Amino acid sequence: MNELTTEHYRALLGLDANWKVTSVEFLPKQKVVDIHIRFCGSGLKCPQCKCDCTQADLAPQRSWRHLDTMQVTTTIHASLPRSKCEACGVLTIAAPWADKHSRFTLLFECMAIEVVQAYSNVSAAAALLGLNWKTVHSIMDRAVQRGLKLRELEQINHVGIDENSFGKGQDYVSIMVDIDNKRVLEVQPGRTRESVDNLWKTLSETLRSSIKAVAMDMWQPFMESTRVACPNEKVVHDKFHVSKYLGEAVDQVRRQENKQLLEAGDDTLKGTRQLWLYALENLPEDKSTEFLFLQKEDLKTGRAWSMKENFRHFWECCDIEEAKVYFQSWYTWTTRSQLAPIVKVAAMLKRHLEGVLAYITHRITNAMSEGFNSRIQSIKSAARGFRNFENYRTRILFFCGRLELIPNVSSH
Ligand SMILES: [Zn+2]
Repeated sequence: MNELTTEHYRALLGLDANWKVTSVEFLPKQKVVDIHIRFCGSGLKCPQCKCDCTQADLAPQRSWRHLDTMQVTTTIHASLPRSKCEACGVLTIAAPWADKHSRFTLLFECMAIEVVQAYSNVSAAAALLGLNWKTVHSIMDRAVQRGLKLRELEQINHVGIDENSFGKGQDYVSIMVDIDNKRVLEVQPGRTRESVDNLWKTLSETLRSSIKAVAMDMWQPFMESTRVACPNEKVVHDKFHVSKYLGEAVDQVRRQENKQLLEAGDDTLKGTRQLWLYALENLPEDKSTEFLFLQKEDLKTGRAWSMKENFRHFWECCDIEEAKVYFQSWYTWTTRSQLAPIVKVAAMLKRHLEGVLAYITHRITNAMSEGFNSRIQSIKSAARGFRNFENYRTRILFFCGRLELIPNVSSH
């Protein structure tokens, strides 16, 4: 191999003068290119304490898969030098072309990460890269670790905390989101007080004190943890969770009433479940006659539905005073209705009124994390349920963390 070619490869690999390409072998039958690299620098820095030291010896030869050369699998082979430090002893220095434990060069990892991002599907990306699922996952995991290390959190104004199921549905994770920057900050197993405590621990105290408001469900462990972790902030109860509770209450009223009516031989409510789940403006045109007819009947379900629909105006109130008045009149109306499921939700809202009212000031919701939920849903279905929490976390942070995933390869 002539000097020009080896020098050309050294430049291509972005190596500095401390490294020399000693040979480039092309084996056409096996369709491989083997690049051999040797350390030729003088003096080493101890990987631990960074002091100047001498070279002890060479570590056993290792190989790293590199970007293909014209569709030919290309591998780098090298024996990394070991430094001899007075304080730290003999240590292997890091290869400038790869992460410490990786079997791939950083440039290969860059390409693999871009392929996974472009496909949004790990299996498809693995097939294209000719790698197995586990290997691609290890590249994603390293990318997330690097990204988290590089992430500089300066100020976070609005945080969302929500839960999500994983695995076969019985396991939960708690997810912390930076609402303004539309990114997942961290994921923890479970949906307990401890889960949320651990989420908060990932943010510095200064950062926590800069937070203005936190959107969440009316879930006691989440609220308690948040009050302790950032005492200055405001809990804002998420309006989509409130709507969900009211929707479920309407459905319970319908089920009870339908049962009573059927017992009396009246099938007015039969097969109407879906109808009552619509918001008025989303009602399909072909259903509107049926719905208006049902509304004219004096049905408990119809009244419960009106109460649910009516509460939507609460969110449109311009200020806290107006919202307080609105809530009080809605509350009185619902509690007089004697529709137990609705009364129950109204009582819950009253207990958490401070956090419900806080929406009027902060106008934040978990809708963004709900958006993530659909993204996370596709991550889950692509992998047909994760058994392992760490794998699940890696994927969420890889796809929804807005991290700097691509390794910096300009430095060597
Ligand atoms: Zn040292």
